[in-house]
Amino acid sequence: MIQSANPQVIVIGGGPSGATTATLIAQKGYRVQLFEREKFPRYHIGESLIPETYWVLERLNMLPKMRASGFVHKHSVQFVTSKGKLSEPFYFHDNKPHECSQTWQVYRQEFDQMMLDNAREHGVEVHEETRVLDVLFEGNRAVGVKIVDKSGVEREIRAEVVVDAAGQSCLIQDRFNLREWDPVLKKAAVWTYWEGAYRDTGKDEGATIVMQTEGKHGWFWYIPLHDDRISVGVVAPYDYLFVNRETKDLEKIYFEEVAKCPGLQPRIENAKRVAPFRAAKEYSYRSKEVAGDGWVLVGDAFGFLDPLYSSGVLLALQSGARAADAICEGLATGDTSAAQLGKWGPEFVEGMERMRRLVCEYYDGFSFGRFVQRHPQLKGHLTDLLIGDLFTDKVDDVIPPMNALRAEMDAARAAAAAPTVD
Ligand SMILES: Cc1cc2nc3c(=O)[nH]c(=O)nc-3n(C[C@H](O)[C@H](O)[C@H](O)COP(=O)(O)OP(=O)(O)OC[C@H]3O[C@@H](n4cnc5c(N)ncnc54)[C@H](O)[C@@H]3O)c2cc1C
Repeated sequence: MIQSANPQVIVIGGGPSGATTATLIAQKGYRVQLFEREKFPRYHIGESLIPETYWVLERLNMLPKMRASGFVHKHSVQFVTSKGKLSEPFYFHDNKPHECSQTWQVYRQEFDQMMLDNAREHGVEVHEETRVLDVLFEGNRAVGVKIVDKSGVEREIRAEVVVDAAGQSCLIQDRFNLREWDPVLKKAAVWTYWEGAYRDTGKDEGATIVMQTEGKHGWFWYIPLHDDRISVGVVAPYDYLFVNRETKDLEKIYFEEVAKCPGLQPRIENAKRVAPFRAAKEYSYRSKEVAGDGWVLVGDAFGFLDPLYSSGVLLALQSGARAADAICEGLATGDTSAAQLGKWGPEFVEGMERMRRLVCEYYDGFSFGRFVQRHPQLKGHLTDLLIGDLFTDKVDDVIPPMNALRAEMDAARAAAAAPTVD
């Protein structure tokens, strides 16, 4: 039952981006209503956090709750080649000796519940099992939403600002045809959960392991969660995984790829599968706009980047925090125009682009090991990018040498492909 007077801000969706935006606006004393179609806890993929989430979690007063949780501590990321060779771990603490360098592997149903409860504690009026059917517009300005609650009752609610945090449902993006699919990252994923699979010990217990498959078509994530579970999923081009293959059966596809991953096989050989197979297809995209008059997009409702470096929740938290600051400033000055609400957009997109570059390089066979051997002084900047310290141009020092190595690799590839003359 909706009790309060008209809110100043409406947030659609109670995932990490919606909870972040709503909490930070409520912290400033504004009236916020959040509508979530599901009853929490609900399942969601996206379990591995990266260190730079720390700073937004700190603003949300979530750190004591994270420390008290049973979530596995993550200190590093490690890569395994298609031949099964393990890289040195990238320990986040080596680069940034601060508490923030320890992050967490989370069950999203638990983490998202904690975030939503935290939003309530900060004064957000949260309505679960309430679906937003439509965003209401007068001219180009968003003025509210139409909702339906679990008993089927529909209502219209008005607000000065509407935040679309509805994840891949992308209500506003689709309404204005703003979605641009990534032309390169046309990937898909299949995953499940294992019990009794191999776990490292000590500092390495919570490492995310990224394991390439033979032929370098794809890679597996290996994410140790609590209760002895490990999340294990394969990512590869959509056509390779689903189209150019005889079977459409997820289990068969998964095990065909396990058979091509020497790094993974020994880790799960004595384990028991404890969940169904799930899949996600062609998920990298971005909106042409981050905001309009009276509306803002955050998290996946703005854009999603391939999960290779586990950046999704970071981007959800970062966009949520940046949008919240712009909204509060706009409410204080009476300016809820597109320019005010979206002022954080260009810097955010630049940060996303830096991560995207690293993702594309990995898929194009870039050797991080060779890069670091050649430019040891840049290992820190590379680690900065991997921990999610994306929103600063100081890390751009890696770009010219990366371009040079890329050009060398392309030239070698072209030479190898050129016909030989006898
Ligand atoms: C295969 C894969 C692996 C991933 N791995 C990682 C990882 O390891 N680490 C990481 O950080 N990220 C990962 N991600 C990304 C991560 O899942 C997302 O980026 C993150 O969940 C985005 O948060 P969000 O709050 O924007 O959206 P969501 O978490 O999707 O939340 C949106 C919420 O809106 C609600 N909603 C939708 N429509 C409506 C409506 N009409 N009315 C009301 N409510 C609505 C939904 O029920 C949902 O609760 C992965 C993604 C994929 C596809």
